[in-house]
Amino acid sequence: MTQQPELSSSLPEDTDTHSWLSNPLDWPHIDRMILLASLVLICPVALGGWLIGVAWVAPDWVNRPVVYALLTLFGCHILLLGSFLLAAHYRRRKHSHWSRMESVIIFSYALVCLTSSWLTGTQFTAGLLLLLLGVNIASPLASIHKLKRAYGLVYIGLAIFIVMYLSGNFSHAPLFSRPPYQADGSPVMFWFVFESVLAITLLVILYIGLIVTERWSNREDLYREMSTVDGLTRLTNRRYFIERGESEFNRTQRTPTAQLSCIMLDIDHFKLINDTHGHDAGDAVLVKISEIMMDNARQYDEVGRYGGEEFAILLPATPLENAYKVAERLRTRIAAAEIQCNGQTLNVTASFGVACYPYNDIQDMNGLLKAADTALYAAKHGGRNQVVTAREQQLAASG
Ligand code: GH3
Ligand code: MG
Ligand code: MG
Repeated sequence: MTQQPELSSSLPEDTDTHSWLSNPLDWPHIDRMILLASLVLICPVALGGWLIGVAWVAPDWVNRPVVYALLTLFGCHILLLGSFLLAAHYRRRKHSHWSRMESVIIFSYALVCLTSSWLTGTQFTAGLLLLLLGVNIASPLASIHKLKRAYGLVYIGLAIFIVMYLSGNFSHAPLFSRPPYQADGSPVMFWFVFESVLAITLLVILYIGLIVTERWSNREDLYREMSTVDGLTRLTNRRYFIERGESEFNRTQRTPTAQLSCIMLDIDHFKLINDTHGHDAGDAVLVKISEIMMDNARQYDEVGRYGGEEFAILLPATPLENAYKVAERLRTRIAAAEIQCNGQTLNVTASFGVACYPYNDIQDMNGLLKAADTALYAAKHGGRNQVVTAREQQLAASG
């Protein structure tokens, strides 16, 4: 399996050129880590503040030793992230990447999440939810491999907690000496205000998570499109056409009596169109011919731009005679088409080569393409604007 390239490698390296209000996915790695550390820092700061508030306003609701232990944990986390943020601030002038900072932020978040879950009584699913929130925000910003490891660590930790808790060997939620509700069942006001502030803070964090994830998925779509579709004609490009061809070929090979046909098409005297009417006119011809091919293809056929003015169509479950008929229909439609460009009407013709597997020595997709290409070559030599099948071509060659 190939490893996904680090996201950061495709990002700008110059740390001074971006605006802090722009999408974080456009930032260099180190700046994304500064954002991530700042977001993670909100947790110990907000929770520490809340804990101090609770211990002050309602001291009998919480167990003091646990409050101190949690405050120490949050304090260490704040110190750790704070020093990394400070160091990153100086470092970003020289380096745009800091992988260790990424690991420290992710794993410190995971550890604090796990410990807080136990001390404050977050149950298994709620603990995972807390972690997931962090992972969701971090996933577009940081290395997905590190996040997976951190997620696994917390998952195992929480699973151990819950087993120990159910077996009665574990004191769950030791922070609270009583639940945050009054005798009449109404919530403690301080608790209610804190929960509301936390909800608003989480909304802001989620918004950042959403915009970076949206950009990420847009880039993913663009990347997929660029690697599979030809920019001018919107047909499948050569690389993807061959990939699809190989999988269709394998499928056909596994199915007895199945047939796979391939049509190769090359526009006749196309260079002349470019030279006489200009490159724009040549492009218009390519687009028009692509449309004609798409209009005549079945849903499961693959129509690709194989080269400059060369196209290929893959026809699964199609015998040679039927593929020949398709090619002949295309040939007459292309020859009859009137292509408008810059106020002029252009007419073109195309030559076709058709091959079908199984036939003779075709062993793989490359062999099928070669056979279609040889037939196309014969069509060119036979006078152009015609369809030649691999069988005819071979008979003519041997005769
Ligand atoms: P033949 O009938 O033997 O195929 O002759 P031809 O002129 O079609 O073939 P040749 O290979 O000599 O010329 C192909 C031309 O296609 C040359 C190249 O500039 C042009 N071409 C390739 N890609 C594009 C494109 O994307 N747009 C345009 N306008 N022209 C292109
Ligand atoms: Mg040509
Ligand atoms: Mg050509």
